[in-house]
Amino acid sequence: DRRPTAIKHHTSPSLMMNSHFAPVGESPSREQYEHGIQVIDEDKEFNQNLSTYLNLEKIIPVGFNYHLISVFGSQSTGKSTLLNYLFGTEFGVMSERERRQTTKGIWMSKNKRDKEAKSMAENILVMDVEGTDGRERGEDQDFERKSALFALATSEVLIVNLWEHQVGLYQGANMGLLKTVFEVNLQLFIKDSKSIPKSLLFFVIRDHLGTTPLSNLRNTLLQDLARIWSTLSKPSGLENSRIEDYFDFAFVALPHKILQPEKFEEEVEKLSTRFRKGYNDPKTTGLLDDESLPVFLPQYHRRIPADGFSVYAEGIWDQIVNNKDLDLPTQQELLAQFRCDEISREVLVAFDETISPLEEKQTHDITIGKPTVLPELGAAMNAARLAVMKDFETNASRYHKGVYTRKRAELESKVDVRLKALFQKQLHAAHKSGVDMFSDSVSTAVKSGQKKGNNYDFAQIVESEKAKALAKFEADGKAVLVEGAPWSTYEQELVLYRKKLEEVSSRLRKEEMRRLATRVERWVRSRLGESVGLEFNKLGTGRGGSGAPEVGEKPPSEKDLWDRIWTVFTETVADAEGRFTDRARSFDASPEEVDVGLWRLRRKSWGVLSAKVDEEVMEGNILLKLRENFEDKFRYDEHGVPRIWRPTDDIEGMYTKARESTIALIPLLAQFKLARTSAPPPLDAWIGSPPLSVSPADEEDLAPIGGVDEDEGKSLEEEMTVLSDYKQQDLLVRFKKTADGVYVEAKRSAIGGMTQ
Ligand code: GDP
Ligand code: MG
Repeated sequence: DRRPTAIKHHTSPSLMMNSHFAPVGESPSREQYEHGIQVIDEDKEFNQNLSTYLNLEKIIPVGFNYHLISVFGSQSTGKSTLLNYLFGTEFGVMSERERRQTTKGIWMSKNKRDKEAKSMAENILVMDVEGTDGRERGEDQDFERKSALFALATSEVLIVNLWEHQVGLYQGANMGLLKTVFEVNLQLFIKDSKSIPKSLLFFVIRDHLGTTPLSNLRNTLLQDLARIWSTLSKPSGLENSRIEDYFDFAFVALPHKILQPEKFEEEVEKLSTRFRKGYNDPKTTGLLDDESLPVFLPQYHRRIPADGFSVYAEGIWDQIVNNKDLDLPTQQELLAQFRCDEISREVLVAFDETISPLEEKQTHDITIGKPTVLPELGAAMNAARLAVMKDFETNASRYHKGVYTRKRAELESKVDVRLKALFQKQLHAAHKSGVDMFSDSVSTAVKSGQKKGNNYDFAQIVESEKAKALAKFEADGKAVLVEGAPWSTYEQELVLYRKKLEEVSSRLRKEEMRRLATRVERWVRSRLGESVGLEFNKLGTGRGGSGAPEVGEKPPSEKDLWDRIWTVFTETVADAEGRFTDRARSFDASPEEVDVGLWRLRRKSWGVLSAKVDEEVMEGNILLKLRENFEDKFRYDEHGVPRIWRPTDDIEGMYTKARESTIALIPLLAQFKLARTSAPPPLDAWIGSPPLSVSPADEEDLAPIGGVDEDEGKSLEEEMTVLSDYKQQDLLVRFKKTADGVYVEAKRSAIGGMTQ
């Protein structure tokens, strides 16, 4: 009689252990494995005797000619009973009187039916897996998931055993568990495999009443499976995979074993034949609902030779046991998680009360563009952080240590995210206000120095203000340090701040350079205004007269007017360059900056001189000078004594001489030309080419100079033209009229003198 019967040992696992695990040294016997072999025990240990068992059962030499089938389902749904019926195995079955879980761990047994038949059916290995029970929580689930995954990963066929009334109940039908198992199976065993291993999910619906047709139950289950598949997280590359890519499905319903025992046995018998059929017609279909079809299709085979199976299975188990995704928290951990989260929320309330207003203040200040250093921030942050962590510790530390530690770290990072934001914004405000303060105080000090006659030391002002600004920033930074927070350091920001101050200093120095340049230019203008004016005035004293030279002094020659102007100009500018250089060096301007400043100064000074010359040769001015020059020559004798005209004097001759002498001045004045070289002064060489460090901003306000700026299209000759041809002509005409007037007057006075 191969009918399975309730075996007595099942209530005593220790007894079973003794009977199934032979002590080392004893030769294994078939009797020891009457109920199969416990492949994995309740301590999750893999049985090292698996290959011994497979050897005893003569499986080792069969190569690929074997099959593996497992069962999955809730506790006490008649799984072991079913397997025993189908395969003649003797797995432990719960006695009908004592309702306790029987199968512990995972058992394996060779099919014991059809020993006579030399078909493949002989080599069926059946695994009975400890039942799952969706109602219970905690540690039990850990084994549940792992064993279910082991069954799924290794077996060609997985019988999913469930009551009819479980169909459609997500938890009741272990769908959640299946989801996890599918998920990890994909992740661990399918993701990297080259071919897609397929398995058959064989749903066996127990205690089928018959009211609901099997096809309806099947549809419900398929829909549930599709839903599970769509929601589980798939490894990258498999996002679009479908459940059908990995599984075929078969469905069968069995009548109630107790209420309809004959019908039950009849159906089970019918079912068992399907497991014994060869697959001569390996037709692949997703749904094996044709009852005549074989179950073990070749594509389900894992292609592990039988002699390698135990090593393979152990490897699979190792991976499963070591996979963290499958670990489930214990009851204690769940409670700790729940309470720690709750306590976190509670202690954060007080933290919020302190911190939120500060956050709002900061945000507001930043929004209106005025980040301010909040003086009370450091103290508030330290107190709030200390309090929140202390409160958490007081209330939560009695819960599961690991969870508490993790949740404490979570809380700390939550708190620190906010504190760090406050901290950094405070440093930002300190940075900004520090830089503003620095640049303002330097400007103020310079202004007050300017008022006191420019008697100030710019470099010294910058140094002392910079020191103050740095000290202020460090004080602000220190005040906001949060004790015990590794992120609370301002070294990095201090470096940036220092750099910013340097930037601002150099900007301020540039401004100071400009101020200095402006001052020196002004000085040049006033000096040239006097000295050049003086040179032109000398024109009016052609000889003697009120402006007569002292005795012994050689009268200035009109011919070298421009030589004298050029000399006085270059000497004045050289003097100015010296002043500029001394001052700029005093505040650490770089040699390049000084070079640019001097270059600008020379160009601007030339502009000043040109303007001054233009002013001197303006119509009225120059006409007056020519007239004076002429009168001086005409009305005074060589000793500077005024002539009293007598009718006998050669008035006309003297007039002509004096007039021609003055007229000769016009072309001389018209062109800035040195007498000693008969060429324009070397303005281009004197200004020099622009320094390499000159920037577009440095050139912005500079007027172009002919003969110096080549692309100006104006020659040095043109730059040096003081009076155009037309102006010379015009001046000549006007001058002659003026001279004529003087002559007529002289003539008259000669006649008048005679009359007297
Ligand atoms: P397992 O925990 O899933 O392996 O369940 P067992 O095979 O140990 O059976 C649990 C109990 O259910 C036993 O008392 C069996 O006699 C009983 N049982 C087995 N099959 C059926 C069935 O098809 N219907 C009903 N109602 N009870 C069954
Ligand atoms: Mg069982």
